Amino acid sequence: MDIKANLEAVKNSFINPDCQLVSVSKTKPVELLMEAYDAGVRDFGENKVQEIQEKQPQMPSDVRWHMIGHLQRNKVKYIAEFVHLIHGVDSFRLLREMEKQGKKVNRKIPVLLQIHIAEEESKFGFDREELFEMLENEDFKKFQHVHILGLMGMATFTENSDQVRKEFRSLKSLFDELKEKPLPDFVEMQELSMGMSGDYQIAQEEGSTMVRIGSAIFGARNTH
Ligand SMILES: *Cc1c(COP(=O)(O)O)cnc(C)c1O
Repeated sequence: MDIKANLEAVKNSFINPDCQLVSVSKTKPVELLMEAYDAGVRDFGENKVQEIQEKQPQMPSDVRWHMIGHLQRNKVKYIAEFVHLIHGVDSFRLLREMEKQGKKVNRKIPVLLQIHIAEEESKFGFDREELFEMLENEDFKKFQHVHILGLMGMATFTENSDQVRKEFRSLKSLFDELKEKPLPDFVEMQELSMGMSGDYQIAQEEGSTMVRIGSAIFGARNTH
């Protein structure tokens, strides 16, 4: 596995060279993360709190840790202090917990709201109605310890690229709609995290600002 070569190949195939790359290192050992680090990677994505907790002290301190997976409320406290960006905030209850933990560590925790765009029921995320309900909620408007920087979404796992494109397009259109809406100061629509190894080019064509790429860099995983 030549991680440096993989990284170059991935970056050279970007439709938008300014799109940020998060290298998804879940299930991979620290030695491979260090190879990526030595090739210039600073943004690493993990989907399990326990794995971030194990890897974080073993990696250099300038690594930016992205929590990309589904996050349980009772685990927010373990990463609140150092996490760079939480991509998968998929409920108001979870965001309330982040507000609470952010207050404890005196931080505005940077997050993206995950929106359900796939046909698959299994994927997490707000639907449109839930999202707008939260944005109008009076408790929500008073939050001071979270910083919402944009949206995240995962397309259906399918070979049908029209389907994938349609789903990414719907997320971009929601993103643009929110940009025009009056929102509290702590809600900014800057980042649109969409695109993985199989669909990052379509995602970039549809306006992604941040892609989360694992297997194209680190090779296939045995487990998810
Ligand atoms: C695993 C994972 C990725 C990366 O997937 P690849 O197909 O290996 O690029 C991206 N986003 C999320 C939320 C993931 O869980």
